[in-house]
Amino acid sequence: MSAEPSLANLPAVDRVLAVPEVAALCAEHGRALVTDAAREAVARLRAGILAGTATAQPEHALGAAARSTVALVGQWVEPVPRRVINLTGTVLHTNLGRAPMPPEAIEAMVRAAQGAAAVELDLETGRRGDRDRVVEDWLVRLTGAEAATVVNNNAAAVLLTLASLAARKEVPVSRGELVEIGGAFRIPDVMTRAGCRLVEVGTTNRTHLRDFEAAIGPRTALLMKVHTSNYVVQGFTAEVSSRALAELAHRHDLPCVHDLGSGTLVDLTRYGLPAEPTPRAAIADGMDLVTFSGDKLLGGPQCGIVVGRRALVDRLKRNPLKRALRVDKVTLAALAAVLRLYADPDRLAERLPSLRLLTRDPESMRASATRLTALVERRLHGVGTVEVVACDSQVGSGALPMARLPSVGIAIRPAGARRARAKALRDLAATFRALPVPVIGRVTEDAFLLDLRCLEDEGELVGLLERLGAG
Ligand SMILES: *Cc1c(COP(=O)(O)O)cnc(C)c1O
Repeated sequence: MSAEPSLANLPAVDRVLAVPEVAALCAEHGRALVTDAAREAVARLRAGILAGTATAQPEHALGAAARSTVALVGQWVEPVPRRVINLTGTVLHTNLGRAPMPPEAIEAMVRAAQGAAAVELDLETGRRGDRDRVVEDWLVRLTGAEAATVVNNNAAAVLLTLASLAARKEVPVSRGELVEIGGAFRIPDVMTRAGCRLVEVGTTNRTHLRDFEAAIGPRTALLMKVHTSNYVVQGFTAEVSSRALAELAHRHDLPCVHDLGSGTLVDLTRYGLPAEPTPRAAIADGMDLVTFSGDKLLGGPQCGIVVGRRALVDRLKRNPLKRALRVDKVTLAALAAVLRLYADPDRLAERLPSLRLLTRDPESMRASATRLTALVERRLHGVGTVEVVACDSQVGSGALPMARLPSVGIAIRPAGARRARAKALRDLAATFRALPVPVIGRVTEDAFLLDLRCLEDEGELVGLLERLGAG
């Protein structure tokens, strides 16, 4: 009907490409990409005109299509995943990429990525080498194990271990340790996928050595202990210690495996953090294989590490699954650099970013919180109250779930009744996510909270907050 004449004013893609700002983009990003964007921009304009939300005036239409083209190209070429500022208070946030990496690891990753690297080449003999060699000596030194292998993540480490040692056989596990880690990693499901049969032992709150003893039969492949990473069983409880379980396994000529989840290579209590079992302690307790993550408390790249007896590690390395789960040279380079930092535990809390953040003194954040609060108050004037608050950070990634890390944050509390407040909180979170570098906070019952524990560059945040309320 009357839409026809207005659509006649839609600019042709060629005319959009001829607008100087758009032509400049062609030089930078190539004509093909910008043409795609211009087509998309014109299509959106057409939809807008038909819906009555965009103007069909010829002098406006061309400008609108050009601006929309520039915006689209900008979005498409932005490096991803987007860098964000983590003010959630969860230090090892799985959805935000877990451990930040130390400069030593970043340099090593860049060096490895730039060119060829001796990943599987023995430089002495000139023969094909073992990919794990690059990090195995360090892992052996730091854990007291005989051998080590590295795969894509700890889920892969558990899968490879079970598939290599327990296919078509039974694996008894305590009912109190049938863990689900966020993102659908469930011990029972991994066992099924690895081709073995889970034998549930004991009860949720109490499992005794005699329960394991009763579960051992001719089809038993190994005994397994799983660290209850993200929960604690409290009250009337009993669990079988690593040492007792390993001894029982060995009496029956079976290997004993411990999935530690978050593996830290030092005693965390020396930094004032709660105790967390180390691979070294598990090996000393007699565990034959120990699996753990590279990017949880260890503070390195995403990977899964298996350490333990040479003969068993060799069986894992020979499994074709190992090839499917192996890590690349960039991960190996980063892991090696992080492991080297562990050689000097006295300086680890300064040099390893994850540990530095976890051990931060709340007082060191207070002055910063006061300055930032004043700025947020100014920029968001009238949105609600803005104040410095004491809060608790968490370790994250299912590590040390009960650890309370006293921290300092900025709480923005919108006024209004419950309904309106909930919407205001969601809007606030969205506003901070929409900043040029998205700032990710935490929504609580009555506040949008910015926990400053993971903020190391106040200047950058100031620059971003200056843009709040600017429309
Ligand atoms: C985190 C965790 C896993 C999975 O490790 P990813 O590195 O995330 O794959 C497995 N088991 C336990 C006990 C864990 O805590």
